[in-house]
Amino acid sequence: FSQKVAGIIIGKTDVKSFPDRKNIGTDRFTFSFTIRDSPDFFINVTSWGNGGYINGLSNSFSIGDCVTIENSLVTNKDPEKGDRFCPTTPSHYRLLVTEAHSQVNLCADTDTVDRLLPMIHLPVKDSTDFYSLGDIEANGQRLDGSVINILAAVKSIGEPKQFTTSDGRKGQRLEVKLFDDSVSSFPLVCWDREVIQLVQTWIPKETVLFIADAKIGFDSFRSCMAATVNSKTIITVNPDTREASLLFSYAKQVSESGALDQDEKPEDVPVDSINDVYTVSQLKQKAWENPEAFFGITYSFISRLDLDSSVSKVIRTQCSRCKIQVSEDAQSCVNELCPGRDQALSTTTGFYLLVDFTDHTGTLHACTLRSPVAEKTLGCTTDEFTSLTDDERTMMKWKFLLERCKIYVKILPSTKMRSGIRGVVMACSLADPGEVKQHMSALL
Ligand SMILES: [Zn+2]
Repeated sequence: FSQKVAGIIIGKTDVKSFPDRKNIGTDRFTFSFTIRDSPDFFINVTSWGNGGYINGLSNSFSIGDCVTIENSLVTNKDPEKGDRFCPTTPSHYRLLVTEAHSQVNLCADTDTVDRLLPMIHLPVKDSTDFYSLGDIEANGQRLDGSVINILAAVKSIGEPKQFTTSDGRKGQRLEVKLFDDSVSSFPLVCWDREVIQLVQTWIPKETVLFIADAKIGFDSFRSCMAATVNSKTIITVNPDTREASLLFSYAKQVSESGALDQDEKPEDVPVDSINDVYTVSQLKQKAWENPEAFFGITYSFISRLDLDSSVSKVIRTQCSRCKIQVSEDAQSCVNELCPGRDQALSTTTGFYLLVDFTDHTGTLHACTLRSPVAEKTLGCTTDEFTSLTDDERTMMKWKFLLERCKIYVKILPSTKMRSGIRGVVMACSLADPGEVKQHMSALL
């Protein structure tokens, strides 16, 4: 009797080892994964063996691959033991894979693969049963220790940090920042190498996650709530659900509007504390070497400033609750997920300009200059700007265009920009020629 199942890998743990009680001095190795072969059915698979077999098997496939499993052993679940640490499945059984009896291979049959692939986008829990980040924050420490489902978008992905535990084991940690229309930044912590590999394939601001069974805890160090991915968690990337597609369109619009960066206030630093001076090419170089945001000063010419295009391109109106762009005369928010959708629309209006900076080393394109920095720079409010004549706007533009300015800028990595980086203006004024001379001589 031989059996064969084909499925797509929707979850996978790291390899762990334990001292073998029967053979003192040797270790037994294990890892688990979860496969799905229909919208309603998925099952956990565990494998035990020596280090060579288990590491080889684990390295032969990743989350998202389709595999066939031949001659696994079907056993009852043991909720008290191993299954406590595995994802919850609809099956009463789990499969055991051993070197002596079983075979696991990548699935070669394209019809089977085509049938299985869409299932990676189906959440493993009821797709309407989730907490928004706002729900989590509203519940606060009452949720400490609980396991819940979360639907959220990826805002940014940190760098994996390596460490060694007190008993000498190597570990790693990576933090993802999530957002949705209620909260602009929420930490998701990952410890497993498998999960960290998966995370590094995500595109910030273009990826929506359904996180089934995330552990919620209170981070007393930062005094905020945080979610953790553990061995019970299954993450569905870009879920094929209505709620996820609404969140995806929200994420896209809000990220294009730059409103997300506006909300990064706690991470922003006072302009007075920014002292490092860079040329444009040094800013680009540093951004490529360092994926985290940083701040600097550049003495550059403004080479693009579209103050004389239509007012609707210079000044934008946003829903004050979810920050999505709305038309000036809108009666209700266009974002179906907006927390204030059934209330009267309340809006904020502000400058939204894209400026280019150029110095002798190059040009930094499309840096955002927004309110309230734009008001300070231009010396006028949005209302005053709206009442200017075309000639007055052109005059205002030429006050800055092709002039050397002292620009305080925040530089962020960006997958959307061809250059890979994006600048946000934090302060900008015409530069003092003496100061320019002093700094530029050091940079030439
Ligand atoms: Zn809204």
